[in-house]
Amino acid sequence: MGRPIRAIFFDLDDTLLDDTISSERSAALVASELVGDRVPADALAIAYMDEAMNFWERLEPGACKPPSGAIRPRLWHATLKRFAIDDEALATRLAHRYDAVRVERVELFPETLPVLHALHGRYKMAIITNGFAETHEAKIARLELSRFFDAVILAGEMQLVKPDPAVFHHAMAELGVAAHESVMVGDRFERDVKGAHAAGMRAIWVNTRNEAAPAGARLVEAEIASIAELPAVLAALEAHERSDV
Ligand SMILES: [Mg+2]
Repeated sequence: MGRPIRAIFFDLDDTLLDDTISSERSAALVASELVGDRVPADALAIAYMDEAMNFWERLEPGACKPPSGAIRPRLWHATLKRFAIDDEALATRLAHRYDAVRVERVELFPETLPVLHALHGRYKMAIITNGFAETHEAKIARLELSRFFDAVILAGEMQLVKPDPAVFHHAMAELGVAAHESVMVGDRFERDVKGAHAAGMRAIWVNTRNEAAPAGARLVEAEIASIAELPAVLAALEAHERSDV
């Protein structure tokens, strides 16, 4: 028996939208607005991106993620301290302005809308994201993405974080589909691919940074460089499954 695909689950940041570029630009902008006279804005922005990346990498499955309202000022404070500026009030102003600018500046990859239009109606679709609920709800609303999706799963709302398989099981329950009918599409191997596999789903890795898969990891069902390739890859996966009958 074949295994037709009924549902596709998408990661959001750096899968459907260009989060890395917009975050870097937003950090540089707020740094130049609020600290530009004391520290080179680019250096401060790079340091902030590093603090943010470290935060996400340290976040373990099962860890209780604090709300962005508490975390962002802390990240900016740590960033300022790298430049010998110990100023909590300034860190809070940077955090608020950064959140606002990021939502204003967020952009989909050019290929995202055509792909979502092509898949809409053919599959059930949902977003599964780790990000902060406040900013993600605003991003999804600004980009008018809800019209394509049957559900948006914000892991943080459940005090969970990808790759915890519970996040993926919850998402499948929301759509009323089984793991063998489900495919996860995401850019982070450790979070998206491993989590999907642990929940019994198939995974398509959007390897935008051309990274090597971790040694010993289970092979992905497909690897693509951009989601522009997604419709063709899904068709191939389904054809492959049918030929296996
Ligand atoms: Mg991502």
